[in-house]
Amino acid sequence: MNSDPDGPTFADLGLRPELLQALTTLGYEEPTPIQLEAIPLVAEGRDVLGQAATGTGKTAAFSLPVLQRLEAHRSDRAPVALVLVPTRELAVQVSEAFHRYGKDLGARVLPVYGGAPIVRQLRSLDAGVDVVVATPGRALDLLNRGSLRLDEVATVILDEADEMLDMGFAEDLEAILDATPEQRQTVLFSATMPRRLDALARRHLRDPARITIAREQAAAGSSPRVRQTAYVVPRAAKPAALGRILDIEAPTAAIVFCRTREEVDTLTETLNGRGYRAEPLHGGMSQEQRDKVMGRLRAGTADLLVATDVAARGLDIEQLTHVVNYDVPSAPESYVHRIGRVGRAGREGVAITLAEPREHRQLKTIEKVAGATIAVQTVPTVADLRARRLDLTRAALRESLLGDELDRFRVVVETLADEFDLMEVALAAVKLAHEAAGGVDDDEEIPQVRFRTDRDAGRGPAGARGERPARRTPGGPTARVFVGLGREAGIRPGDLVGAITGETGLTGRDIGAIEIHQRFALVEVPEPAANEVISSLRATMIKGRKATVRRDNQRTP
Ligand code: AMP
Repeated sequence: MNSDPDGPTFADLGLRPELLQALTTLGYEEPTPIQLEAIPLVAEGRDVLGQAATGTGKTAAFSLPVLQRLEAHRSDRAPVALVLVPTRELAVQVSEAFHRYGKDLGARVLPVYGGAPIVRQLRSLDAGVDVVVATPGRALDLLNRGSLRLDEVATVILDEADEMLDMGFAEDLEAILDATPEQRQTVLFSATMPRRLDALARRHLRDPARITIAREQAAAGSSPRVRQTAYVVPRAAKPAALGRILDIEAPTAAIVFCRTREEVDTLTETLNGRGYRAEPLHGGMSQEQRDKVMGRLRAGTADLLVATDVAARGLDIEQLTHVVNYDVPSAPESYVHRIGRVGRAGREGVAITLAEPREHRQLKTIEKVAGATIAVQTVPTVADLRARRLDLTRAALRESLLGDELDRFRVVVETLADEFDLMEVALAAVKLAHEAAGGVDDDEEIPQVRFRTDRDAGRGPAGARGERPARRTPGGPTARVFVGLGREAGIRPGDLVGAITGETGLTGRDIGAIEIHQRFALVEVPEPAANEVISSLRATMIKGRKATVRRDNQRTP
């Protein structure tokens, strides 16, 4: 790995060559703070209690050391590692990560969750797997059927443990842990550490090493003149959103930070396609190549630098007006470092962060650590962009009017004025100037989404509210939501529809079947909006009462 000689590398963590190769291919240049701390401990077999949110790189922090020890533990058919996660989405995501990192080790990984055909999962389990990534409900179901063998499990990972407790999985977790060997290793990751979680950890973890990503306050006033904004953008819309934001912000010079070399390369290409002069900068380039790129930025022949943290370390670029985080940085400290590159010497700087809807907590942590206020905004619309481009044209014309080299064009206007109204002549001239100024005609509407706020519902940053959540595509997938209030509490379908439409962007038509039972109710909602519905209902009162709300599909085979 060609990384900064000062910082520790993945190789320094003692990872096997197959894993190092996979990480190089993925373009990871250096471990994130949680990876630096957790990988050696987990690889050594220690129990670990880690506090880390999504976006910190926690998945690699536990999956790499599990893969590192796979060969030593591997049994014929029964899994040697069990990862428990709260949702189906996370089960898929985590098992994909295991696949990506463990390809060269031939790791057999199976995601297991409710709502998917159980037959296929049974068949795969029967054929033999190394790692099972499961939601607790389905894991317990398979365990009770005798299809999931846990007697060979060497490591259990509880990922997003606070979420699992919130979703009512406490008993399931206990039952599953009790079915694993006593001498197993247990690793627990959670964004928050509520007391209930501590109790669970005390019962099931042995002398755990504790890891918390440092939260020291950055020196007060360290970045006073930086305007900080975050835009909530679905992953797929990020390239378009970035282009749009840059068009509006019109930076003199900007650095766009990415997580990996691959991201640097593809984003550079996209931005160049949009008419920017973007240059890549990453650890895979020679010093000479890097110097050239820096030279072009300083000389003003390039206006955007797309870089990884490693490559941009120590750079000091005077002209820099904007720092863009293409992803929420994996550690608050790196956010602080990145934005420290603008707003120097009393000049104003701008820091922009693109955040995915699930990255709300990570951003909150950054705000706390950096002692900053990050305003959350929606991505500019096509109309905003057009208005902004007209503004720029108007400003350019104004400048030209104030200058004094217009006389030689007088003859053009005068001859045209014989034939046309002066206003029309002006309009045509503005049109030509506007078109000549360039800019991509961009008609793509970018979906307006908001943070998934779970427990923070209703306390989101300014601007996060009032935007619309992802909508159901007609006939799209649905999820069933369990609400712990029923006929006994006087609940009628209208109450649930009212609560959901009042708290989310869904309309009555988006809501499917509603079943009211004696003590609970089940509501069908579009899958893309399910998390939003759950967090909103948890935060609100229904008929004057708080209800337990969770997904109901974990147990449906
Ligand atoms: P997680 O916090 O596990 O959800 O990871 C967040 C994202 O960061 C995922 O897209 C990972 O692929 C990526 N990632 C994790 N570790 C690294 C690293 N060391 N360098 C670059 N990207 C990483």
